[in-house]
Amino acid sequence: MNIVFASSEVAPFAKTGGLADVCGALPIELARLGHNVAVMMPAYRQVKQSTLAIEPLGVKFDIPIGNKIVRGRLLRGALPDSDVPIFFVEQDEYFDRPELYRLKGEDYKDNCERFTFFCRAALESIRLLNLSVDVIHCHDWQTSLIPAYLHIEYLHCHGYEHVSSLLTIHNLAYQGLFWHWDMLLTGLDWKYFNWNQMEFYGKLNLLKTGLVFADGLTTVSQRYAQEIQSDPLGCGLEGVLQQRRDALSGIVNGVDYGVWNPATDVHLAARYDVSSWRAGKAACKAALQQELGLPVLPQTPVVALVGRLADQKGWDLVAEVMRRWVNEMDVQWAILGTGEPIYHDILGELSQHHPDKIASRLEFSDLLAHQFEAGADMFLMPSRYEPCGLNQLYSLKYGTVPVVRATGGLVDTVVAATPANLSDKTATGFVFEDYSAVALDRALREAALTYWQKPAVWQQLVETGMRQDWSWAASARQYEQAYSAAKQRRQELRERLKNQR
Ligand code: ADP
Repeated sequence: MNIVFASSEVAPFAKTGGLADVCGALPIELARLGHNVAVMMPAYRQVKQSTLAIEPLGVKFDIPIGNKIVRGRLLRGALPDSDVPIFFVEQDEYFDRPELYRLKGEDYKDNCERFTFFCRAALESIRLLNLSVDVIHCHDWQTSLIPAYLHIEYLHCHGYEHVSSLLTIHNLAYQGLFWHWDMLLTGLDWKYFNWNQMEFYGKLNLLKTGLVFADGLTTVSQRYAQEIQSDPLGCGLEGVLQQRRDALSGIVNGVDYGVWNPATDVHLAARYDVSSWRAGKAACKAALQQELGLPVLPQTPVVALVGRLADQKGWDLVAEVMRRWVNEMDVQWAILGTGEPIYHDILGELSQHHPDKIASRLEFSDLLAHQFEAGADMFLMPSRYEPCGLNQLYSLKYGTVPVVRATGGLVDTVVAATPANLSDKTATGFVFEDYSAVALDRALREAALTYWQKPAVWQQLVETGMRQDWSWAASARQYEQAYSAAKQRRQELRERLKNQR
């Protein structure tokens, strides 16, 4: 099959979250399965500053945006260690900026315009590059106009008749919501600005647009696919998702074990696998404690958190439990993240007051993320909701026992340490239900007591997790099915329209 990925983030070129990891790894896995894959993303400043080989292609295009014409051009590179081509849409006024979507906590005012341009440019590039395409795989609101353009403008366009679209929802809470006049930027007729298609309570909703027009929909775990069909995780779009439930499936993200594997990870003080984890993790833990300025104490469990400092991730609960635990429990906290200023303040203050118990690094560092995974004993994810979550999958591989809230992908990937699951040797972590500090406290306490008092159980949890295989192979097979189903639906749509004529 010929597949084009259109995404606003692709690792290692530009990343703010899991979306980038997916779009950096899944194309390579699909190519391995024999598909023809190409990737398209904006040429951000980060991309142009990257040390990876990128060259101009001499392909230019003019894109209508509202009542102006905006010029762009294409650059070309490849996903690392692969032959998968990646095309970068260059337009410096839109993309040569310090951050991807926002600056100092404020979204860029022209985000709708920037990504409308990117969507149109990606579609035009197919023609200009003479690509043969079966499916365009779109991701989140930033590329959600592509299914609409395919449906409205390109359905009968030579070369595009058979191009279908699959839209993957990585996080339904981010919808690309803009004031109604931005409809003019899209160039689409006002007749589509109605509550069944592009409008959402008087505003333009790009993600909704994609949900309505895409030939197929996926999200990144089965549980999340269920959860978003009702309130509150449907975030107001539950009705649209219910209507389109036949086109919607859940496919859990995989892990790129070329990058996330303690046996080969070059960022670690020691490398280890399931047969050598005790010594390996002990060395990584001491190195992490030292790096963070925490006392180097082998018996004190280290609880790690890595992620965006956003409400979604449960930081309010973490702050409450940390405040209580600093005086009560012999546990160290290692925190890595960036995001909402309020959490920067809370975490900064807590680590200043309790430097031998709490260490936070409020920055984005791939290197530290690896060292946290290897050096910690437990990995905490008390998310309000979690479409898939990658860190718990990395933690399993690194022998770092996840403590998670029962939501979304966390439910699909972590098996709770109940007596039944322990006796059949499937348990891999600790799971709590209620979104409350009390429930989090209880689960984490159980984890700490197990760590101290039941070393055999701890060993079983660590080793069961480390032996699991969450590589992309299985998920890529499921994406193949989703692409075929999308193609089929596009075909049926064309036939339906032909019969109506
Ligand atoms: P989300 O996509 O909601 O942010 P995921 O768990 O799916 O959450 O993916 C987050 C990814 O981003 C992981 O690869 C994680 O290691 C990485 N990450 C998040 N914050 C940081 C940070 N401050 N430094 C390094 N990596 C980070």
